Amino acid sequence: TAKSLTRLRVTDNARPERLRLAGPQEPPSPRPSPCPRRDTRNPYAQLLLAAMKQSGCTVFNDRHFSCENCDGCVSGGFDSATSQIVLCQNNIRQQSHMNRVVAHELIHAFDHCRAHVDWFKNVKHLACSEIRAANLSGDCTLMNEIARFKFGLKAHHQTCVRDRAIRSILAVRKVSRETAEKAVDEVFDACFNDLEPFGRIPHNKTDAKRAYKDFLNRDRYNANL
Ligand SMILES: [Zn+2]
Repeated sequence: TAKSLTRLRVTDNARPERLRLAGPQEPPSPRPSPCPRRDTRNPYAQLLLAAMKQSGCTVFNDRHFSCENCDGCVSGGFDSATSQIVLCQNNIRQQSHMNRVVAHELIHAFDHCRAHVDWFKNVKHLACSEIRAANLSGDCTLMNEIARFKFGLKAHHQTCVRDRAIRSILAVRKVSRETAEKAVDEVFDACFNDLEPFGRIPHNKTDAKRAYKDFLNRDRYNANL
């Protein structure tokens, strides 16, 4: 229905399943339970939050992160209507996973603010943000791939990004696999190469820290002009 369309859930999950939370007409809970494992010093998140602040986007604080129990193996979602990120505490067991989910959803929030994404009518917009989220959040780092027993030719970073983007679209949109694949392939090169605000593919925490440092320096330099 039109009403449910106002609540976008961009999910990050292993198996496509719709994220079901409170009914669409309910306002977001004013005091979401805090997320005990959300690491405020995670450099991926620090950079994304700083970049959003600099772009004049919604300044995220604890109220924008809601820890909830989610269905299936959904691990997170971004609600574009309320600018809220849901972290599925029952499906996130490790700190490293939590960091990836936070980064993934913050990339959607960044894109939402920066690019005025039409999440509902334009599947290419959604595809682009999913490509960027998979590429830049650490979802497709080598260790993750090994953990998924995909080591080999298919573990190629780009293949992983493409696969995950397609899976994410199928999790939130009632479109055929063919439609999802076509959307991802059409925008792949442009969106895979759009590395904002990282300026590089952060393959690990050290990369992300470097990207954050560069961002802060760039910011300082711009301020001095
Ligand atoms: Zn996503």
